[in-house]
Amino acid sequence: MTLRELQKEVDRWIHEVGGGYFSELTNMVLLTEETGELARVIARKYGDQIAKPGDLDKALPEELADVLWVLVCLANQTGTDLTEAIAAAIKKKTDRDTDRFAARRQSPAAE
Ligand SMILES: [Mg+2]
Repeated sequence: MTLRELQKEVDRWIHEVGGGYFSELTNMVLLTEETGELARVIARKYGDQIAKPGDLDKALPEELADVLWVLVCLANQTGTDLTEAIAAAIKKKTDRDTDRFAARRQSPAAE
């Protein structure tokens, strides 16, 4: 599935199943909420926090997808083409950071 196809599929679901988009402000809050849920899993799976029973019931892929879902909703309702936006972001980072990470690319620790 391409990014463009993902945006269309989320838009289809929102209109056919979800009853329309929440407001941009609500979705921004929901993005923050989902990011927190993702952070909770990361802190317990890769960080120093110790999981309580049930903490890891929600898998990392599920939380990543939840974040992506709301991000796509925000893109759709603001008329943002994520394919164009990510291409511009890659170009910006490449132009800005190619020299910045040269030493890291040559270090075995980077792998
Ligand atoms: Mg979630």
